[in-house]
Amino acid sequence: MSIAHERSRGLRDWSDQRWRSLVALSYVCHGKDGARWRFQCDCGHRGAYYLRQVQRGERTTCGCDTKPAPATAWPFPRVLGSDGRPVSSVHRAALLAQAA
Ligand SMILES: [Zn+2]
Repeated sequence: MSIAHERSRGLRDWSDQRWRSLVALSYVCHGKDGARWRFQCDCGHRGAYYLRQVQRGERTTCGCDTKPAPATAWPFPRVLGSDGRPVSSVHRAALLAQAA
């Protein structure tokens, strides 16, 4: 691809530009949502993301700021059903309503 062709597609050099925790390193390619760049996150991770999403603030890190939900978290108060296995409080309320 020629330089002139790249300019015609609005491709410009964003290297060393910072948005939030991400610093642009190098152009990767064009995807369905525009230019993809390789970014360095403040945490040290690197990844290729859509420039547009980073500029809009839709992506501010490599993902290190979103804490995954604990695998053992139970969304309802732990209630044991008639078989001794935990059931949701909603399910238990339905069982009690049937019994009444
Ligand atoms: Zn990170």
